[in-house]
Amino acid sequence: MSTQAPHPALLIPGPIEFDDQVLQAMSHYSESHVGAPFVAVFGEALSMLRELFQTTNPASQPFVISGSGTLGWDQVAANLAERGDEVLVLHTGYFADSFADCFETYGVKATQLKAPIGDRPQLDEVEAELKKKHYKLITVTHVDTSTGVLSEIKALSEMVHKVSPETLVVVDGVCSVGCEEIRFDDWGIDVVITASQKAIGCPAGLSIVMASGRAIERFRSRKTPPGSYFGSWKNWLPIMQNYEAKKASYFATPSPQLVRALHTSLTQILSRPLSDRFADHRRASQKVKKAVADLGLKQLAAKPENQANGMTAIYLPEGLTPPEILPNLMKKGVIFAGGLHKEIATKYVRFGHMGVSVTDPKRDEIDRAIEALKTGLAEVGQKS
Ligand SMILES: *Cc1c(COP(=O)(O)O)cnc(C)c1O
Repeated sequence: MSTQAPHPALLIPGPIEFDDQVLQAMSHYSESHVGAPFVAVFGEALSMLRELFQTTNPASQPFVISGSGTLGWDQVAANLAERGDEVLVLHTGYFADSFADCFETYGVKATQLKAPIGDRPQLDEVEAELKKKHYKLITVTHVDTSTGVLSEIKALSEMVHKVSPETLVVVDGVCSVGCEEIRFDDWGIDVVITASQKAIGCPAGLSIVMASGRAIERFRSRKTPPGSYFGSWKNWLPIMQNYEAKKASYFATPSPQLVRALHTSLTQILSRPLSDRFADHRRASQKVKKAVADLGLKQLAAKPENQANGMTAIYLPEGLTPPEILPNLMKKGVIFAGGLHKEIATKYVRFGHMGVSVTDPKRDEIDRAIEALKTGLAEVGQKS
């Protein structure tokens, strides 16, 4: 039995459902952020992130800073680019527009390479763009949460290293870390940013970043200081290195309770092979996508190779809008999200299937959600 009050299952693409133990970790009594017990927990959480991102290179550097996923964009823009630099942003939905906007805030010139809704820029198009000018870095959204489009990171990174070896490869993995395979070392990635509340299954409030040795070198060789104070790696790098070495140090007070929750969720995630975890997500995703197809509905991501495994963005039947179906689903005990992509927001809903909702065999909310969608659409369809 769960210790949580009964509630509709939260099946949006983050925040996701929490495990009881993760929530209980947050009710830890107040403790000093520089006391030995907390320093040990923070240090272990940082080391566990190396495993989650599949990096064994000691030069890789994890960061855990209070904030949401958005702070990861600021960290990249403020620390890895300088005013006037050119960066290339691959667009697969809403989140690329925001990342580009973040770069512009720091005076960095962001060029977006766009694809039709539901698709992604193709490798040859990216290659042609990289040959036009020197881009300091390229960003790709691993899973764009507004469209459910999955990007292929391995082949992209290989191509960038070949065509433009100085360009850093930056992955927005806010909606993918924990549910999609990411091999930081093997794929030659320079930065992955994520957040606590999506597939990692921890309450919102932590910005999580992994940076390569090459990215840290790029930061160290800046000509101008970072354009942010709170987000500056000059401030955070020694803190993260000290915590991981189990040494107390202070820049800005971390949240001991959130870090304890992260420690618990990472311990759970890493208690079994990551490949099993990714397989669970693929299996649940296939089940959802088959049910969607059986209902005669289409996904935004039409091509199977573009489809994320932790969420599904589903076009509603012609004429039906999210406010007409979401309350019906809520009454049946499941919460989906409405559309987010500006141009088509009123035409689709988003079904998140990540974390304990798919990995905990005692939970049945994915099946309940599929059933709710079936009966809900039939009911709403009859009324109109
Ligand atoms: C959710 C999300 C973000 C933003 O994260 P916040 O925690 O809401 O600040 C960025 N990128 C992607 C792909 C996301 O899904």
